[in-house]
Amino acid sequence: MRASSKVIIRRFAISIAIRTYLLLLVLLLGISLILLGWSALARQGEKGLRVYFLDVGQGDAAVLATPSGRIFVVDTGRDNQETGEDMGREVVIPFFHVEGFTHIDALILTHPHADHIGGAATLLENLPCDALVDNGQSENSVEEAAYLAAAYRRHVPRITPLPGEQIDCGDGVTLHFLAPTSAERSGPPNNASVVVRVDYGRTHFLLMGDAEAPEEATLLSEGQSLACDVLKVGHHGSDTSTTPRFLQAVHPKFAVISVGAHNLYGHPSPLVIERLRQTGVKIYRTDRNGAIEALSDGNEVRMVLLCSRASH
Ligand SMILES: [Zn+2]
Repeated sequence: MRASSKVIIRRFAISIAIRTYLLLLVLLLGISLILLGWSALARQGEKGLRVYFLDVGQGDAAVLATPSGRIFVVDTGRDNQETGEDMGREVVIPFFHVEGFTHIDALILTHPHADHIGGAATLLENLPCDALVDNGQSENSVEEAAYLAAAYRRHVPRITPLPGEQIDCGDGVTLHFLAPTSAERSGPPNNASVVVRVDYGRTHFLLMGDAEAPEEATLLSEGQSLACDVLKVGHHGSDTSTTPRFLQAVHPKFAVISVGAHNLYGHPSPLVIERLRQTGVKIYRTDRNGAIEALSDGNEVRMVLLCSRASH
């Protein structure tokens, strides 16, 4: 065989190898895309209650989507008047766009601190909202004035729920307002946080806002039903909340701590983390895990990290 023929055969072999490699690559890519698409479709098709804990840095923002498509927002993250930062615009509204949510059945603001109400005015200005639920307190802040003005402009009724009141979504999901009491409303805002228990079938979620030991003690003394699958830990995991007696009554499977990385307050407290670990609770943190989804089918809750779409 001539030298030139050998070169041609070698080139031909290399060309075949490259084509086979490329074909395999395309096939693998195709299979991955099909699997990803299938998994996304499977998620969308799954009926159930979804509770999303968004990553808004130091602050709280959760979104509830019920099986019949009713949408509730609990807190909206912070804003910063000087820098123009607004978690409503930067996190919550983009999240709504991704999930295809176009309205809010009720915007629930646990208490009038900026890390909870900072994005509220933006949400009210940009999304149709049926009701504004807050604790009725006033801190006379810029953020509070902004959301009250937005609610007024958009004709959104403002409701201050009493313990024992509830919203029945008509699809198996009920939001129970457990706190604050009238006495708590005249005290410091953290301990006047609107506390909501969300029930769906045999599963329960407890959203604590920034409630601290005194509000936990009131809930315990009133004999409120506190047992839940998922606890949104009070006050970003501060050691002023999640007392041992309270944790014993709640006995969650999962705890979500909504907290900013390297925050100035030292949240969450190592003491609270240790307390949760000793109780056997699996801990999720928005500073480490990013946005977290808790999906309930009415029987059990599955936790999903939205960045990796991995189930736990
Ligand atoms: Zn807070």
